[in-house]
Amino acid sequence: MGEASYREMWEKLDLDLSAHDALLEVLGKFYGDIYMSQQGRLQGMEYLDFVLSEVHGLRIKELQDAKAEGRKIVGTFCVFVPEELTLAAEAVHVGLCSGADAGTEQAEKLVPRNTCALIKSFIGFKLAKLCPYTESCDLIVGETTCDGKKKAYEAFAEHAPMYVMEVPQQKRDADRALFKAEVLRYKDEMEKLTGKTITAETLKKSIKTVNDRRRVLQRLSKLRSANPAPISGRDALLINQVGFYDDPIRFTGAINALCDQIEQRIAAGEGVAPANTPRLLLAGCPMAVPNWKLPYVVESAGAVIVGEESCIGERNTRDLVDESGETLDDMIDAIVDRYMRIDCACFTPNEERTDNVVSMAKAQHADGVIQYSLMFCQPYEHESIKVGKTLESEEIPALSISTDYSMEDVEQLKTRVEAFVEMLK
Ligand code: SF4
Ligand code: SF4
Repeated sequence: MGEASYREMWEKLDLDLSAHDALLEVLGKFYGDIYMSQQGRLQGMEYLDFVLSEVHGLRIKELQDAKAEGRKIVGTFCVFVPEELTLAAEAVHVGLCSGADAGTEQAEKLVPRNTCALIKSFIGFKLAKLCPYTESCDLIVGETTCDGKKKAYEAFAEHAPMYVMEVPQQKRDADRALFKAEVLRYKDEMEKLTGKTITAETLKKSIKTVNDRRRVLQRLSKLRSANPAPISGRDALLINQVGFYDDPIRFTGAINALCDQIEQRIAAGEGVAPANTPRLLLAGCPMAVPNWKLPYVVESAGAVIVGEESCIGERNTRDLVDESGETLDDMIDAIVDRYMRIDCACFTPNEERTDNVVSMAKAQHADGVIQYSLMFCQPYEHESIKVGKTLESEEIPALSISTDYSMEDVEQLKTRVEAFVEMLK
């Protein structure tokens, strides 16, 4: 399919074509500078380069084809929305990225200025008519994780077909019961949307599909603990990001093939950086496409990122849904148990997350941790103080960074990160 038919498709989706052209140009340049300039990339990354180059083309065409076959498209912003149920109802589940500074002025008419960049971005993309994923969605599912999102969805609902799922903020029995009721309500909503009944058979299959994707990402994460690091943090982040919108079965196959190549590289003692390069773990807020600013700054400062303790990373892949259930009830319980283990900073108390940051730093043989939060993100900015104290007591060097999607602070970030990396050498 050529550029002309893509334009026709974007036009039908009512995108603002000139603003969209400008976005694709910036994205292409950014990708070239940050990704294509890397030395010694794995051959398997060509798949990711292709997927990214077609992010608004081929994948959107696939979504339109699925719609033409009568399938529904469901967009989400958070790893709490159980994809297993979306897939079991034969709908397509896509993560709606919101990692760029666009449409901020329009967004600030709907939400306060002191709102995190992620929220402003998903609203801005919608109001500026820039996102073909959002425009393809039959339903957009939000969740009541943080207050910023909760209130933003009220405003967003006036512009998009919204459904909001309640996520508890504690992990007592009563919270589990509440979340189970919400999972069942989501199941009903999916059945209503698609006109399909979710059966034990369809759910079992989709649990396996989503677990397989988690398994391949776990495999990748383990391989990254090798020294020298076999893949750059930027490439690994990109893999995790693409996992949110690519077809899950195709993605799993491609990343398994890439992991085979990584194994060969490890066996040959090769890496993307020399063995003594400082290794860092990134911990905190999720990094949606094309939020590559900090990883680029870190790896340009002479360090290598060996893990992401984030929803676009380990928090999304660490736990599997138990696959042994045979009845619908058992499977729903297994889904509830798995999702209640997510250690998002919206929970209180949330000791699991602190413990997980420490154990991940150790498992990946990280020399230090960079805590990353988006400005005005109360949950992660608060936790960075607590997590920072624990890292100090564990004698793991840490740096806490609060930033947004603009490029204004790049020089300042460089200075801070370079000083931190220097100290680790
Ligand atoms: S950080 Fe929390 S709110 Fe954000 S995607 Fe992850 S689980 Fe959802
Ligand atoms: S980054 Fe923080 S404030 Fe923004 S949506 Fe996520 S949890 Fe909420």
